[in-house]
Amino acid sequence: MKRILVTGGAGFVGSHLCERLLNEGNEVISLDNYFTGQKKNIVHLMDNPYFEVVRHDVTMPFFIEVDEIYNLACPASPVHYQYNPIKTVKTSVMGAVNMLGLAKRIRAKILQASTSEVYGDPQVHPQTESYWGHVNPIGTRSCYDEGKRVGETLFMNYHDQNDVRIKIIRIFNTYGTRMHPADGRVVSNFIVQALKGENITVYGEGDQTRSFQYVDDLINGMLKMMATGDDFIGPVNIGNPGEFTILELAQKVIEITGSKSKIIYEPLPSDDPMQRKPDISLAKEKLDWEPKIPLEEGLKKTIAYFDQLLKES
Ligand code: NAD
Ligand code: UDP
Repeated sequence: MKRILVTGGAGFVGSHLCERLLNEGNEVISLDNYFTGQKKNIVHLMDNPYFEVVRHDVTMPFFIEVDEIYNLACPASPVHYQYNPIKTVKTSVMGAVNMLGLAKRIRAKILQASTSEVYGDPQVHPQTESYWGHVNPIGTRSCYDEGKRVGETLFMNYHDQNDVRIKIIRIFNTYGTRMHPADGRVVSNFIVQALKGENITVYGEGDQTRSFQYVDDLINGMLKMMATGDDFIGPVNIGNPGEFTILELAQKVIEITGSKSKIIYEPLPSDDPMQRKPDISLAKEKLDWEPKIPLEEGLKKTIAYFDQLLKES
């Protein structure tokens, strides 16, 4: 049995990770300040004596003895990370420093939940890990993009300078159950709008692309990455290479829900990347990992979740 710390453990991805780690027989500590996470996401785990919950902000030092750390604490939806951009930078940078300092002291392995946003509005397509990205350092998304880029820098520096055992994954757009209905990300927005019969808000002309990964595939990739030997540290892309335009996504959600919602067009937010698709050759080679859940199947599970949630509210 390993003792594992998950920062951001009450969030969308973090709650799935805690659940899976507990199911595999580990002791898990969730650390969260509940900025975007919810107790509701982890309440079903509370009866497990091997699960502990800590309210704490990663921008402050934290001391504990664990074998592994998954560093997920950071708002991920553009609406939320732009709400208080200074805090987003602090969470990414000071959070990484605090968790890396902890990992150094206790000799724990530490995995960073980085993001495809480090590629910015990419000029290389699909994105390989060797691509340095195209990021506006002073734009509306920069608090998140640059925060995550410095996060990767710090992870590499602690590895090179202090021999900290690091792992970096670059996560591409992930969706699934336990996303917050008011989270503002495209999959949750479209599903909630379709289920409520409201207009579906496509930003821009809807010709920008994203590659959507179901959360279970991401969790498999995270666990496989953490299990690799100390010689493989990443960064490695974890995403589904199936690429769709945002308009196609809207049409798919309408089709699966059978909704009468109409598509409306709203202005494209600034610095919104035009295309995104992971090259996952490295993950296939080093982790023997690839996503298994096609968009349609993942959407059906997510729609069923939101349908139930809306009926309860
Ligand atoms: P989320 O917003 O649901 O979860 C983030 C969690 O971190 C929340 O529980 C929030 O309360 C917590 N948190 C935020 N600031 C904190 C702080 N200062 N101290 C302690 N806790 C704090 O988002 P998510 O989709 O679950 O994302 C999890 C991680 O994965 C993030 O680091 C995100 O950048 C990364 N990621 C996610 C995606 C995706 O598509 N979901 C894509 C790329 C990267
Ligand atoms: N988007 C949209 N309508 C919405 C929410 C998002 O058209 O209601 C678009 C958004 O402009 C972007 C894409 O969907 O081009 C993905 O947005 P999201 O916020 O989910 O993630 P990110 O932009 O960080 O990939």
